[in-house]
Amino acid sequence: MSQARIVYLNGDFLPFAEARVPIMDRGFLFADGIYEVSAVLDGRLVDNEAHLARLDRSLGEIDIRNPHSLSEWVALQTDLVARNGLSEGLVYMQVTRGVYERDFAYPPADTAPTVMMFTQAKAVAKNPLAESGAKVITVPDLRWKRRDIKSVALLAQVLAKQQAAAAGVAEAWMVEDDAVTEGSSSTAFIITKGGTLVTRPLSTALLPGITRQAVLRLAAETGLTLEERLFGVAEAKDAAEAFYTSASAFVMPVVAIDGHVVGEGRPGAHTRRLRELYLGMARESV
Ligand code: PMP
Repeated sequence: MSQARIVYLNGDFLPFAEARVPIMDRGFLFADGIYEVSAVLDGRLVDNEAHLARLDRSLGEIDIRNPHSLSEWVALQTDLVARNGLSEGLVYMQVTRGVYERDFAYPPADTAPTVMMFTQAKAVAKNPLAESGAKVITVPDLRWKRRDIKSVALLAQVLAKQQAAAAGVAEAWMVEDDAVTEGSSSTAFIITKGGTLVTRPLSTALLPGITRQAVLRLAAETGLTLEERLFGVAEAKDAAEAFYTSASAFVMPVVAIDGHVVGEGRPGAHTRRLRELYLGMARESV
């Protein structure tokens, strides 16, 4: 990035080093906040309205007033992307319950939420991992019971991702009651040898992935049969193909699970096609 990094904090666009949040911020003390991430490709936000709709829903689920309308969010994001000269990467948005003397119960209703956004430059489309395929490990799902809320409380995911890093792989798939819930920061999919695309149905057990939603829509064009149901690690290892999705990974082929080679050990044809379809959609999105 050529320009100095600019971030957004509570109404101001500031140089990164000048953006400060008080220690009594409830995001800092209690992880009492929500975040959202939209990808940027060719300088444009990808599937952004769906991300902003999920942000609104997550905020509502924990009684934080959404400080901005959809069009205000889009204007702020667009401004931030331009100020940072970002053509490819991510916009991160975070809203916490604001700053107040530490107390578990909510602060007074007129406490202003803390609103923060930053960008990250990242090769989301030309990601070399998508060429080779990613390896994943499986780990126990240690999280709370409202994973449909995109809370900033990500300690279990931090621990899972660190286990993946220590194992030299890109992602950890979390497992509960013998079924894969989702990746530590992605949605898990398999394609069976019979040509069925399988992913877990939405519930409070996992995040409703925005990329998941888009991929299920696009999969209708591929001739794959769709099944939203639980699947276990053994079934995933035995699948013809596997992949995970997220705003930053798009459609990421999985070539090994816990050291077991999936399919032919390289990105499968259906997965590559879904990635292409997704990239096509992303490049058209405004
Ligand atoms: N599950 C979890 C736990 C995640 O953190 C993410 C990434 N935010 C996803 C799924 C994928 O969601 P999306 O496609 O909306 O990025």
